[in-house]
Amino acid sequence: MNSKLIAAIAFAANKHRDQRRKDAVASPYINHPISLANVLANEGNVDDEQVLIAAILHDTIEDTVTTEQELLLEFGEEIARVVMEVSDDKALPKAERKQLQIDHAATISRRAKLVKLADKICNLRDVAASPPADWSLHRRQEYFDWAKAVIEGLRGVHPALEQIFDEAYAARPK
Ligand code: NDP
Ligand code: ZN
Repeated sequence: MNSKLIAAIAFAANKHRDQRRKDAVASPYINHPISLANVLANEGNVDDEQVLIAAILHDTIEDTVTTEQELLLEFGEEIARVVMEVSDDKALPKAERKQLQIDHAATISRRAKLVKLADKICNLRDVAASPPADWSLHRRQEYFDWAKAVIEGLRGVHPALEQIFDEAYAARPK
């Protein structure tokens, strides 16, 4: 059996091997892309393998030295395209990148929208349950509101996952 999904997990685990999330116990970075694929497959019933693979790879461009060319060679044109669609342009200032995510959410492909939706579901759950240690209440609330603004732009792509996003948003810190 030849599994491109397992190959993607191995690829992402290797790329993220020295990285940790920002939560207080510095969880292994790879937990996050695996969570996205788990949400898509087992909460959203998404069975499009290209989407699950793109979810696994979604932070390799932004957060590791991986290039588009590398993804293209390893996983093909479509997956490389989806990962590029969900990657910020790191040459831009952080605030501008955040605004561009809001502005572009409606214009990205269906597959990219699904990955983006799963990313925001997982990050809201993380900010609610295991936030970056130094984040104030205001910052956690701002993050929730920004994530919601991004998701408003892509509503209609997958109502069940949007409902799961809304449930995650309901835990907005008070
Ligand atoms: P972010 O605010 O973008 O940090 C959040 C990102 O970190 C998430 O989107 C997620 O991205 C990743 N992440 C890793 N671990 C966790 C975790 N445990 N919980 C949630 N997310 C996690 O980046 P910066 O810290 O660089 O902040 C930059 C922005 O924040 C600027 O726009 C700035 O203006 C603003 N800011 C606001 C402050 C405030 O007090 N309101 C203070 C300072 C900055 P991924 O899924 O891609 O890994
Ligand atoms: Zn992510």
